[in-house]
Amino acid sequence: MTRREDRFLLPLDFSPKKYSLRLEPNLQNFTFEGVVEIQVEMLKAADSITLNCADIKVHKAHFTTASGKVFNTSDISFVEKDERVVFKFGSQLTESGTLHIEYQGELNDKMKGFYRSVYTWKGEKRFMATTQFEANDARRAFPCWDEPDRKALFEVELIVDRHLTALSNMNAISTHSDPDTGKKVVKFATSPLMPTYLVAFCIGEYDYIESTVQMEKGPLILRVYTVPGKTHLAKYALEVGSKVLPNLEKFFGIPFPFPKMDMIAIPEFSAGAMENIGLITYRETALLYDEKNSTLSTKQWICLVVSHELGHSFYGNYVTMEWWDALWLNEGGAVFIEYVLTNELYPEWEIFNQFVQLDVGNALILDSMESSHPIQVPCKRAEEVDEIFDAISYNKACAVIYMLSNYITLDAFKKALNIYMKRFAWKNAQPQDLWDAMTEVVGTDIAQLMTGWTDQTGYPVIEVHPAKDSNGKRALRVKQRRFLQRGPSDDKTQWRVPISYITDKSSTPQYFLLTQEEDIITVPENAKFIKLNGKQTGFYRVQYADEMLPSLVDAIRTQEISAIDRLGILQDFCALAKAGYTDAKQALTIFSAFETEEDYIVVKALATNVLSFYGIIKRNPSIEPLFKEFGHGIFDRLGRKFGWHAKEGETDLDALTRTTVLGILKKLEHPETIKTGMEKFRAIAQEEKSDVVSPDLLGLVYAIGLSEGGKEEYDAVLNIFRKTDLNEERVRVLGSLGATKDEELLKSILKEEFVLDEVKAQDLMYPISSVVGNKKGGREKVWDWFVTNFDSIKRRVDNGFLFGRILKTAASEFDTEEHRKKVEDFLKTKELPQLKRSIAQVLEGIELSAATRERIEGSITPDSLKKLIEDQKKQ
Ligand SMILES: [Zn+2]
Repeated sequence: MTRREDRFLLPLDFSPKKYSLRLEPNLQNFTFEGVVEIQVEMLKAADSITLNCADIKVHKAHFTTASGKVFNTSDISFVEKDERVVFKFGSQLTESGTLHIEYQGELNDKMKGFYRSVYTWKGEKRFMATTQFEANDARRAFPCWDEPDRKALFEVELIVDRHLTALSNMNAISTHSDPDTGKKVVKFATSPLMPTYLVAFCIGEYDYIESTVQMEKGPLILRVYTVPGKTHLAKYALEVGSKVLPNLEKFFGIPFPFPKMDMIAIPEFSAGAMENIGLITYRETALLYDEKNSTLSTKQWICLVVSHELGHSFYGNYVTMEWWDALWLNEGGAVFIEYVLTNELYPEWEIFNQFVQLDVGNALILDSMESSHPIQVPCKRAEEVDEIFDAISYNKACAVIYMLSNYITLDAFKKALNIYMKRFAWKNAQPQDLWDAMTEVVGTDIAQLMTGWTDQTGYPVIEVHPAKDSNGKRALRVKQRRFLQRGPSDDKTQWRVPISYITDKSSTPQYFLLTQEEDIITVPENAKFIKLNGKQTGFYRVQYADEMLPSLVDAIRTQEISAIDRLGILQDFCALAKAGYTDAKQALTIFSAFETEEDYIVVKALATNVLSFYGIIKRNPSIEPLFKEFGHGIFDRLGRKFGWHAKEGETDLDALTRTTVLGILKKLEHPETIKTGMEKFRAIAQEEKSDVVSPDLLGLVYAIGLSEGGKEEYDAVLNIFRKTDLNEERVRVLGSLGATKDEELLKSILKEEFVLDEVKAQDLMYPISSVVGNKKGGREKVWDWFVTNFDSIKRRVDNGFLFGRILKTAASEFDTEEHRKKVEDFLKTKELPQLKRSIAQVLEGIELSAATRERIEGSITPDSLKKLIEDQKKQ
């Protein structure tokens, strides 16, 4: 963690107590006029006051002391690179008082700060004004102390055209019309203490639906806002929000701390959603659900995101991290609570299994790179945080919280959380504060256990060998070493690992805390199999001694072991093989143990892993066709069983399994799947029927139509994109376009007038990632496009978070040393200080892909694949 004195912070001479903010946005010329009066407390006399400020023109400013003395500014200077403004007053300010600033700002089109978002209504372009302040962009809306621990009260007044709706964090307390201008003046209640990054305003034409939720302290109005004509898509989010809010209070054991809750879908939005106090903003695909056209995955996604954002009401909004290096306190907590809350609403989704497969799975991959970073990431300057909104701060943070909550029990975890939240209510906290509360409840030193996980990069692989303990009883020798995608290393990092195991005798995980490099665990004498990381709650991989494998493979075959544990064995096996800890051939043999598998999460993991191997060898003509055949052998049975249409009484997980199985069969060019898919495509495109297949399969059918068809099919899909006003449908089309086998069409996707003009900047990564995966030179085309259009892409996506994602996608399929060199040489010519970490990850990623490909190609030969295929046929 950075010490306060090492951070680049505003001086501690004056501190804000309350902001009174008056803003008048102009949606014709995209500017706004602002007046801010900040009550400041003097901590130390000074002759100047420094605040954060960016893209703002200050008209004038003065300081009025508590005793009524007025100091006019003698000098206003901007330090652009630090995004600061300094007001000099000519003489010492020796009292607290009020800083008064009048200024003008820009409603930019960069999806950050106070910005404009465009949408179409009745064939006409319309604009709204909205905000995205996290992490460092409140300063674009008003000069402020833009640091998370400079909490203050906010009193907001918005002056808008009469026909517009104005929203902010708090409820409106008065609305009147200005007799001179005819404009509407909306004044909002004073907020509780908030950091600047949680302030928000939205001004535009909106419709809404609402419900009254019974909360502990009385009824609370929950509203979901959309652009005009879309409230029918808001019903599901409203239903989720209404159910989640009371459960949230129950989980934390604290009454909901804010007076109202608005959730609003914004047509152009850089992240998924933003947890502003009382006014949560979402990208449309994370909030709007169309019963006829949305997929089940979208439904799950909305439930998770709404739960996540509402969960921030406590994790982040009520108790805030002191500084950005502990961003994970907000985000890891919010990810954890999103799964807890979703699981309460839909136990049938077994959503924690999905968490382990996807969230933990992705965190394990990123965190096995040397260019990964600790959860608790040193952050000297606030802008460094932009790169930290990643799988480590969200998923790994949540994974280690999940590991801890299972180790100390969820009840103990909740009790400690309640103590922590009450103790730091409306204040800021550090990780140590959370660990202290945990230690109080469980009686052992939790900081000692957890800091290894939060302050060190990476995680261990646990090697397990059969052994005897000192009494000659059956035991396991366990040894930790850091797991790296690069392959076994002598890295000496160690963790305190809560190792658990299950056996055929007991599926309740038994714990053992590994506190040194290696140790001996006594285990039941008569167990048939012993599987470590019971229920996959731990953040580590396991490598078993060869002699332990047959009993585990048997347990998979007979399904004596639970689905999540089958998934765990599979994931570790494949990861170890790809990283060169074991032979890749061995990983392929384990697939055959899943010959009767039908559990959704295991099928999903099978598909993900088969696809990942396929991705590595798909450009190698000597093994690609055989690998596909091998893949068909794994999924063909499931394809026939689940078919293309829902069976009566099937569950949501059955539907998800169908989507997964047909999806992987399509990617492996399974002839029968392609043929049926093409029939479905014709019915949709030529007969203009939309209900030929479930929306879950639409993206797949578009991709099949594109890959098997030509220009006509391409135009038909593009037509769907142009006609719809459902963003989910647009994204679905964008994500399938790259499936075309026609090189000219592939090129036309990347033409500026399409990808930069017609596709929203927020959605740019979808067509890019779809083209980059195309075997027919997709990766070269995307990289050339990135290089040639670098400046216009950067202009269009002037947003560190989104631009970083596009860069990572553009280089994601490269896998040779020449590729790495090419990317490095190009990036060297560009000034991208905010993407230092992403660039290091891109370059290491290519290097690792090259090594993995060579390893796999060296091990999986045509003969070994032929042998596997023969074995499949015998089964
Ligand atoms: Zn979040």
